[in-house]
Amino acid sequence: MINKETKTEVILIGAGIMSATLGTMLKELKPEWNIKVFEKLDKAGEESSNEWNNAGTGHAALCELNYTSEKPDGSVDINKAININEQFQLSMQFWSYLVNSKLIDNPKDFIMPLPHMSMVQGEENVAFLKKRFEAMSQNPLFQGMEFSDDPAKLMEWIPLIMENRPVNEAIAATKIDSGTDVNFGALTRMLLDHLMTKDVEIKFNSSVDNVKRTSDNKWEIKVKNNAEGKIENHTADFVFVGGGGGSLHLLQKSGIPEGKHIGGFPVSGLFLVCNKPEVVEQHHAKVYGKAKVGAPPMSVPHLDTRFIENKKSLLFGPFAGFSPKFLKTGSMFDLVTSVKPDNVVTMLAAGAKEMSLTKYLIQQVMLSKEKRIEELREFIPNAKLEDWDTVVAGQRVQVIKDTEAGGKGTLQFGTEIVTAADGSIAALLGASPGASTAVHAMLEILGRCFPQHMQEWEPKIKEMIPSYGVSLMDNPELLDEIHTSTAEALGLSKKEQVYS
Ligand SMILES: Cc1cc2nc3c(=O)[nH]c(=O)nc-3n(C[C@H](O)[C@H](O)[C@H](O)COP(=O)(O)OP(=O)(O)OC[C@H]3O[C@@H](n4cnc5c(N)ncnc54)[C@H](O)[C@@H]3O)c2cc1C
Repeated sequence: MINKETKTEVILIGAGIMSATLGTMLKELKPEWNIKVFEKLDKAGEESSNEWNNAGTGHAALCELNYTSEKPDGSVDINKAININEQFQLSMQFWSYLVNSKLIDNPKDFIMPLPHMSMVQGEENVAFLKKRFEAMSQNPLFQGMEFSDDPAKLMEWIPLIMENRPVNEAIAATKIDSGTDVNFGALTRMLLDHLMTKDVEIKFNSSVDNVKRTSDNKWEIKVKNNAEGKIENHTADFVFVGGGGGSLHLLQKSGIPEGKHIGGFPVSGLFLVCNKPEVVEQHHAKVYGKAKVGAPPMSVPHLDTRFIENKKSLLFGPFAGFSPKFLKTGSMFDLVTSVKPDNVVTMLAAGAKEMSLTKYLIQQVMLSKEKRIEELREFIPNAKLEDWDTVVAGQRVQVIKDTEAGGKGTLQFGTEIVTAADGSIAALLGASPGASTAVHAMLEILGRCFPQHMQEWEPKIKEMIPSYGVSLMDNPELLDEIHTSTAEALGLSKKEQVYS
């Protein structure tokens, strides 16, 4: 049955943070457009965007050691960190606009101030962290970063980590107070609730099974209602494939040439969680360590304070693992069915190249809880098995593609946006830095898919995101203004903190 009652300009597939962000932006830019959302589950934000499925780090490159690297001449390259920080500032401005315009309220339900720290052990790592601190602290984006290798200072910053630690061990940390913990699940739900008040139709239990071009250059999607088994077809001028791990299969079905020769490599994850108040109260930060040799960047261990459902808890991980599913609620056949004639060589090349990664992930899956607690003890020497529970995190599907630098079948760790040449369909693949940079990713989609509207939209985009098109690093005064206004709007200034 073709649903023809009203013209639909935009269809968003999936009710995660990406669709929620794009839908909210488009409703501000073109309120008269008809937007529909199709989500296969019965609620929004239940896959990777859910608060228990990701680590909730507002990735601003304040603590993630994998965003900086040591160059052959010994200096530290902070370019990637600069990029990610600039991208996160866009999210902070957009969220502030939404709060100030009363489109969403109670920012503390989705964002909390929390120091971000990097911590390393061993002489060589301490020397690297110091050099990294020197390079970063001179940049206005990272103002306020502190460094210490003094055990007494570290005891003040991270008592849980320092207690009972051997005194002869070289250890150092950096700390910056402007970090955040973000509940992306709550934010997704807030954005979609807001969209519903603007007459955006959100259809749950609605699995999109096919995406195909119509003869008049629109897109038709085939939707199966999972509760009733009914099939419907819907047509729109523009489709965003925001299915998270489910996006690759849909992109392949669209048949656009830009979606060819791309594969997906699924990585599962586990966190350890502690809800015991006596332990939780001893820690107040996100503390990122260094990835183990052979480990992929997404399994950098970190010990985080989390604010979920008005409760403070501690989360440690993620422990990476292997599962052939592309979504947590996906199928064991996801990986196999993603291999197509156009990407089989790419996938085989990646398989051969990434043998050691696959082996690492399988070993990680086999770890017992005791073994995981042993890893936790590198952070908390006193950690007790009985204080920690295991939770299964979301599924990430890393993109595999052929690149000039890496050759055939190169595994990518970032976020990839794929758009058709005529801008009528866009898909978001990959994971990191993910939800934190959703606003940047969706601005990119607007630019690529709606170039004919960008001039008309620019003033509104600048109202929503004052630093749009401007480098904040090169405009420290604007950066200062934005830091002050976003902290105020989002309740991040210290006086407004509600958790001790
Ligand atoms: C372990 C882990 C830790 C992470 N930590 C962080 C972090 O600390 N900070 C950060 O910024 N990011 C983090 N991320 C990344 C972040 O979670 C993701 O980038 C982000 O949530 C992706 O949002 P999305 O909307 O694209 O996908 P999702 O949130 O997965 O949403 C996709 C939606 O599409 C639906 N869907 C799929 N297929 C279909 C279909 N065929 N029809 C209809 N609906 C469909 C799904 O049910 C789902 O609701 C982490 C991810 C993981 C897995």
